[in-house]
Formats: sequence, structure tokens, C-alpha cells
Amino acid sequence: MTYSVPKLPYDYDALEPYIDETTMRLHHDRHHQTYVDNLNLALEKYPEAQTWSLTALLARLDELPDAVLLAIRNNGGGHANHSLFWKSLTPGGSELSAELDGQLAAAFGSLEAFKAEFTAAAKGVFGSGWAWLVKDEDGQLAVTSTANQDSPLMLDQVPLLGLDVWEHAYYLKYQNRRPDYIAAFWQIVDWQQVEKRLKANSSLL
Ligand code: MN
Repeated sequence: MTYSVPKLPYDYDALEPYIDETTMRLHHDRHHQTYVDNLNLALEKYPEAQTWSLTALLARLDELPDAVLLAIRNNGGGHANHSLFWKSLTPGGSELSAELDGQLAAAFGSLEAFKAEFTAAAKGVFGSGWAWLVKDEDGQLAVTSTANQDSPLMLDQVPLLGLDVWEHAYYLKYQNRRPDYIAAFWQIVDWQQVEKRLKANSSLL
């Protein structure tokens, strides 16, 4: 099998003014496509892994030969992270349920405290990477970050919400103002998707 870039679940301009149409087109059609193309190329060199699910592929990096390990780590991670990211956003954001609100409050103190912790993680990524809400290896909600295109799936964690803080995700509109991009992100989070992943105990890739 070969991987392909999933179609966006909304129009390219639907996240305006928080994420601009040009960024969405470049990010989805070019950047994400490049991860997928390079993942497929790597899997051609190691067909044994072509039948593994994307989740399994990222969980089993230690079984891959050195010749394809880094390519699959970077591009498999890139494909998983972006697929999850597009589905985590929705025009205007969605309602946070009382249940999820309660779960976030139990884990972090309050919704606002969760957002502050996640925002600090996103601001704190040095260079390129991601901020995450995950269900960690002990089954607890946690805020983390990863470098490059590393995925929580590589760490036996379930990614529930992720924010891409590579400059390609925001530079055209926000230039160096990453905090403004992070603030905009909170306006378009699809909390229903986060809740679905939590209930399913799966990233639902
Ligand atoms: Mn990206």
C-alpha cells in the first residue's frame, strides 16, 4: 500500500482569519505531500513494513533497518502529525463538552490552566516541533512537546491534540510572532475530535 494526503475536512480558506488560505495550501498540498512522498519512497526500500498500520509503523521504529529508520521516523511522523492536525481544527472551533472540560480540570486544575501549560509548551519548542495533549503511557492526560516530526505514537502515548510550531505553519501570516499564532489556534480547535480520541483511546488516524 502507499500513503496519500487526506483531503482537508473544510475549505482552504475556512480557518481564516486565524490561519490564512495561502499557508493552508502550501502546508497541506506541498509540505504534507512531501512527507507522504518520502514515506512511500522509504517503504519501497523496506516492503516488509508496507502492511503495518501507520500507528504500528511509528510504534515499531526500533524494528526498522538503519537504511530507512530516519526517513520513516521523519516522514511517517510528519504524515501522522499533519493528518491529526487537520482533523483537530474546525472553522470557528467547536464546543467543549462538560465531560471533557471536567477531565481537563481534573488533570490540570482548569481549562485555562491546561491552555496555559500547552501554550507554554508550544512557545518553548526550540526550532521546529510540536506541542501535544496526550494520554501518556500511564493513561494520564499530559502536555508534552516533540522535536522535528517526532510523534507521541513513538513514545507509547496517544496524541489527542497537536499544534504544529514549525515556521512553515505560521510564518507567512505571523512572521516571528509564534505566540499570536498559538492564541489564534485556540479559536479553531475541534474539541469534539479531541474527545472522540480520548474516548476511543486512539489517535483515530
Ligand atoms: Mn507542518
